[in-house]
Amino acid sequence: MHDPTISLTMKELEEKIINCQQCPLHSTRHNAVPGEGNYKSQVLFVGEAPGEVEDLHGKPFIGKAGQLLSKILQSGKIKREDVFITNVVKCRPPGNRNPNKTEVETCFPYLESQIALINPKIIVTLGNTPTKYLLNSQDGISKVRGQWFDWLGGIKIFPMFHPSYLLRHEERTPGSPKELTWRDIQELKKMLDQINESDK
Ligand code: URA
Repeated sequence: MHDPTISLTMKELEEKIINCQQCPLHSTRHNAVPGEGNYKSQVLFVGEAPGEVEDLHGKPFIGKAGQLLSKILQSGKIKREDVFITNVVKCRPPGNRNPNKTEVETCFPYLESQIALINPKIIVTLGNTPTKYLLNSQDGISKVRGQWFDWLGGIKIFPMFHPSYLLRHEERTPGSPKELTWRDIQELKKMLDQINESDK
């Protein structure tokens, strides 16, 4: 069993994730998807689980939802290569079903280790799965998005809509999921600027 309290380098951790066989998802995956980006980022984005394209290439958020995530980051003037992007579950659930509780619980120590290594100030949870698990709450994403939550170790959690949800809700009228997400990314950028300012 992977123990998050044992310190590994990011490379060693990625190797463990790539070779993991701790839940049945390993038998249907093409590739585990550890995550990618800046290991020293102040902000960590956590999605649900890899989709079809991510599974084929071993990289997070590179399909349609991922392209939208890149645009959202751009609209907040945040460079994708400056942040770290991963998922709460590292292997694709067949047919893109939601990961179940056992899969999330089995995979969670990997995310814990990534958090310990990256030591971000902010975790952005994308959609219900990572948000409910990290906040240990049943509140849905529409209720909690755009709000700051204090988490362990002084880290703040900032839930946002999952880009796949935005792909199903194209409207941009005031109060629509896309417009709210535009506001959320500006809020995130504001907080990142404040953190950078106070670190100077
Ligand atoms: N959806 C996710 O939650 N993660 C990915 O990596 C891709 C799609």
